[in-house]
Amino acid sequence: MKYLPIFYKVENRQILLVGGGQVALRKAKFLIRARAKIKLIAIEICSELEVLLEDKEHEMYSRAYQSSDINKVSLIVAATNDAAINHLIVEDAAKLNIPVNVVDQPELCSFIFPSIVDRSPLLIAVSTGGNSPVLARLLRARLETFIPSSYGVLTVFLGNFRKRVKKKIHSFSLRMRFWEKVINGPAAELLLAGKEKQARSLVETMLKDFDKEDFIQGEVYLVGAGPGDPDLLTFKALRLMQQADVVLYDRLVSQEILNMTRQDAEKIHVGKERQRHTMEQGEISMLLVVLAQSGKRVLRLKGGDPFIFGRGGEEIEELAMAKIPFQVVPGITAASGCSTYAGIPLTHRDYAQSVTFVTGHLKNNQCDLNWKSLVLEGQTVVIYMGLIGFPFICEQLILHGRPRTTPVALIEQGTTSKQQIHIGTLQTLPEIIKANDVKAPTLFIVGEVVALHEKLAWY
Ligand code: SAH
Repeated sequence: MKYLPIFYKVENRQILLVGGGQVALRKAKFLIRARAKIKLIAIEICSELEVLLEDKEHEMYSRAYQSSDINKVSLIVAATNDAAINHLIVEDAAKLNIPVNVVDQPELCSFIFPSIVDRSPLLIAVSTGGNSPVLARLLRARLETFIPSSYGVLTVFLGNFRKRVKKKIHSFSLRMRFWEKVINGPAAELLLAGKEKQARSLVETMLKDFDKEDFIQGEVYLVGAGPGDPDLLTFKALRLMQQADVVLYDRLVSQEILNMTRQDAEKIHVGKERQRHTMEQGEISMLLVVLAQSGKRVLRLKGGDPFIFGRGGEEIEELAMAKIPFQVVPGITAASGCSTYAGIPLTHRDYAQSVTFVTGHLKNNQCDLNWKSLVLEGQTVVIYMGLIGFPFICEQLILHGRPRTTPVALIEQGTTSKQQIHIGTLQTLPEIIKANDVKAPTLFIVGEVVALHEKLAWY
């Protein structure tokens, strides 16, 4: 983060604005919305600015800028098209440590103005760090469309209850749940529909009848985070990710996806690396139970789909035994994600009528798969966790009758920006892998469909 987002109170404080044209006018209007007092300096002041600042709490000087102008101001905005003056202002401001903004010159600014969605007192600010004001504006327009204008009223309404709720409900996490119930429930609906009186009496009742027991029940969300690209998360995954108090995540879950969980949620890495499980499976299941029993909403975030080579079943078995409520959210499994992003359809009327997912994980240097069933014609085989065992797997497939020339794709870090694809055959791919520095996670696709990659690769 290059900038610290803060909301700065400028009500009744003096802000120096240098420049008297249309740009300065825009800034002056913005500053006045935040109730600042403006001290304007410009050789020429346009008539609209004169009208806008005619109120006596503002000051206007029709002359050149002087270094002494910055005394006692809280912020400075330079809106002149004179580069020398802008530089002088920046130097002067630096000496006194006063934040300064030079319009359209982010490299000279110590603060920048965001694009805002104003539902005062609710305020949403968007910034691209000065890289693309147009992008910020477009994003703001999107936000405008899905945040109802009445959210300002809702914000005031919630603010009016804040002290009382804090007095009645002492625990921070219980208070948060109470508020979520108000905001996601009928009380907020009533208010947004204009029925303020009913909304108020509903919240009064909720507060009066508040019962800890209703809120203390923990819950577990077993959520598939997909193969890597955050855009492949489901809406439901995202919603639960933003609700959970604690997050238990695997190595396969990227930082980008983790950043989409609640900022204040506790995050626990439970590992799952080959040979190096940070936490044993039993310990993970126990931790889920203990956390949920203490009233937490626990997110168990897993790469891909939790029910495909993810041991999701084992974890929720424990929860079911302990009678802890849980929800499971499917994710896009690596086979779907990687095949799609590699342009390799897993089935195709001309090449494959079925697809089988197998794990190539070795146990005692062996991989106990039903080889006979994997060499049947017209079938695609997708191998998870197969990198170490791959030479052995190729050998067995050939031995049991799959032609050596069968095409195979290896997809590295599929669906991410680091995705790499290596194409070969059952005979050649093991050597190709040796010659390359292949990075986990990797997935193999075996079958005639792999030939389509050449034509269909799009990512
Ligand atoms: N539940 C997960 C699979 C977990 S097993 C799912 O449904 O996808 C872990 C294996 O998944 C890895 O060894 C690798 O074979 C595969 N995998 C997961 N993400 C991958 C990715 N982005 N690219 C390639 N393979 C991936």
